[in-house]
Amino acid sequence: MIQQTTGPGAVQEQHRDMPEMIDRFGRRITYVRISVTDRCDLRCVYCMNDDMQFVPRSQLLTLEEITRIGRAFVDLGVTKIRITGGEPLVRRDVLNVFEGLGNYPGLTDLAVTTNGTQLTRHAAALKTAGVTRVNISLDSLRPERFRAITRVGNLRQTLDGIDAARAAGFRRIKINSVILKHRNHDEVRDLVQFAIERSIDISFIEEMPLGIIGERDRAEAYYSSNAILTDLSPHFDLIPTTESSGGPSRYYRIPGSASRVGFISPHSHNFCDHCNRVRLTAEGRLLLCLGQEHSVDLRKVVRAHPDDDAPLYRAIIESLRIKPRGHEFDLAARPVIFRHMNVTGG
Ligand code: SAM
Ligand code: SF4
Repeated sequence: MIQQTTGPGAVQEQHRDMPEMIDRFGRRITYVRISVTDRCDLRCVYCMNDDMQFVPRSQLLTLEEITRIGRAFVDLGVTKIRITGGEPLVRRDVLNVFEGLGNYPGLTDLAVTTNGTQLTRHAAALKTAGVTRVNISLDSLRPERFRAITRVGNLRQTLDGIDAARAAGFRRIKINSVILKHRNHDEVRDLVQFAIERSIDISFIEEMPLGIIGERDRAEAYYSSNAILTDLSPHFDLIPTTESSGGPSRYYRIPGSASRVGFISPHSHNFCDHCNRVRLTAEGRLLLCLGQEHSVDLRKVVRAHPDDDAPLYRAIIESLRIKPRGHEFDLAARPVIFRHMNVTGG
């Protein structure tokens, strides 16, 4: 399908006979997030309930199906794939997916989002497989808080994972921190300092109302990106940039440092107009929007046509007709989206 590349994993110059992935609002889809599992070794309070039901393994896409669908997206013009979950690195043999996509012609960016607990084991192999960027979630630098937010986690394990990622030499490493009022909002300065000392990026994320998470009130825990900026400004010279990593982060540079500070602000700074992405759940449901339920079952398509990709291409292109204009998150309301982030593939 691909007419020309300039080398393994290089920029795809043309897909002459392929339709384009453009939705009805003129947005071009170039980025897919693929969840390889909804399971996880942590239970972050904003992501999961403490008694989660996970998808039976028999209903998951196989690793081969995931790779096949990922490659189909690239054939249609996607240049960036992020593997996520759940915790992607707890799925057995998940490296096969990275190896199957890493050098696929046309894919310029293969990224992973992880909680870091398995990185000491996997970082070097991920790099060899062609992973370019690693996002690692870290909400607190204090062991007892880290434990409280993740319910079961050990801070040391994630910090060792960050060191392993740095040693492996990825193109970019970024910390993701969900900031919650009265839980960790007083740590934003320390987290930025942590990133600067390691020459890695950091993004602060506003909590999104995905799924019911017990008794905690999400509206009460809301801490806006603007509040974080105000907290940081006495300590760091933050210069706004127009740089993008292909996602919804707005970035700031700090003079004299290699680190960028990003903000993902679904509430205070809606990013839907520039949406360039879709998401695939571990069961093979193609979600057209993080904050809406519009979806198409790609598992059915690949299983009905094991040797022919044409129906898969068609299903992907047709799905764009139902991609909604944007999310309608409202922290004060009961969640309108009942799937949790671990199902969505954050
Ligand atoms: N387990 C991996 C991790 O934690 O990085 C990957 C999956 S996790 C669902 C992806 C990202 O979503 C993490 O950075 C996490 O902090 C974020 N996240 C989870 N639930 C969220 C929520 N309700 N609102 C905002 N971000 C959330
Ligand atoms: Fe697991 Fe990531 Fe969700 Fe935390 S945010 S519970 S690490 S999937």
